[in-house]
Amino acid sequence: MSDHGLEKRQFGHRARLALNPADALKADDQAHAARTMWNLLHAWWQMMPKEKRTLANADVAIRQARQDIDFLAVLPAQAAQAVLKTYFQAWKNCWDGRSDAPNFKARFRTAMTVDVPQGRDLNVVRVHRRWGMANLPKIGRVRFRWTKDLPVGKHAGKDNRITGARLVKDPLGWHIAFRVQTLEPQPDPHQGPETGLDVGITVPLALSDGEAYGHGEWLTVGEQARLLDLEQRAARRKKHRKPGERTSRRLRHTYDQIAGLRAKAKRRTSDWQHKTTTKIADTYGTVVVEALTITNMVKSAKGTLDQPGKNVAQKSGLNRSISGEAWGRTVTMLTYKLARRGGTLAKVPAPNTSRRCSACGLTTPGSRETQALFVCKNPDCGWTGNADHNAARNILHLYRMGHALIPAAGRAVARRAPRVKPATAR
Ligand SMILES: [Zn+2]
Repeated sequence: MSDHGLEKRQFGHRARLALNPADALKADDQAHAARTMWNLLHAWWQMMPKEKRTLANADVAIRQARQDIDFLAVLPAQAAQAVLKTYFQAWKNCWDGRSDAPNFKARFRTAMTVDVPQGRDLNVVRVHRRWGMANLPKIGRVRFRWTKDLPVGKHAGKDNRITGARLVKDPLGWHIAFRVQTLEPQPDPHQGPETGLDVGITVPLALSDGEAYGHGEWLTVGEQARLLDLEQRAARRKKHRKPGERTSRRLRHTYDQIAGLRAKAKRRTSDWQHKTTTKIADTYGTVVVEALTITNMVKSAKGTLDQPGKNVAQKSGLNRSISGEAWGRTVTMLTYKLARRGGTLAKVPAPNTSRRCSACGLTTPGSRETQALFVCKNPDCGWTGNADHNAARNILHLYRMGHALIPAAGRAVARRAPRVKPATAR
């Protein structure tokens, strides 16, 4: 027993649904209705004078729409309310500068989702070692794969329960993402060592103690060839399509096959990420990473219309590899996995971490001999090693010098230890 007391924990769990074809069609219809509802709401918002854009007015409009338009009635009332809530939240996010303004949702570019905001409506029960069952409004009782112990039945209570869910469709079919809330004993502080972690060019994850985590290609040679073949086939079919002609069933099928292969690669990526981040969080008490803002990097590379960015292609290549390795998701996983084990994740501002020598602290021209090899050109030093490893060591060093960023009110603020020069001036 820990003597630190209990801690509230909220997390999501995604499980695969086993829907029969009729139920899958019902879920499709609900998702399309939810998207239409969003679009109607957006049109309503744009039409309304500013002072009339209130939650109450929007609610009245939604109720009216559900009465007037037949196919909107397939959407459960709670799910319609969830659309309304998400839409208003989207504006709040926009006004607070967290995202762009909400927009219309296009049929084929929008993820198919339906909310089940009330956990008690689901009535989740475990019926088999590998299967659970849940109620979906206006669909009925359905089975889902049981891969995690969820707080249901006699394990459920005020503090341990499923608070809601969202149905999500991907190329594998419909899934259910549960929102779970539990009360757990606070972990003891993690006794593991500190480490710097860098997203590398030659190794996907490099640690400052010389450890590195790599992976193979996400798709086999055969799968890659098949993907290329499918993409070329789709491009060819698309080229021969006359303007205004509908996407043929064949072309649609090819698109589905392409999406299937990409989804396979994504699942393998995420599997690898989960395994490596769990291992890192088990081993180390403090993990230090570079404070990269990936969205900013993509935006700044493109520049603006008046001042187009330089080397856009190269930089977007860099961005692609970062988002390909899904760096942001790795950091998110590490954050919550470390927190659960009593460890911490620290971020440091990291200009020049890949160009500075981690042994003597000097930035000498030409030290980056190849992508992989770092050779310090300082005559008194001459440190040689893997370039990604060098960057990870720099990151850990910055943390030990007191350059960790403290997140404050949603924005990172630099904390500087007294009498230490900023990293750029050293
Ligand atoms: Zn050196």
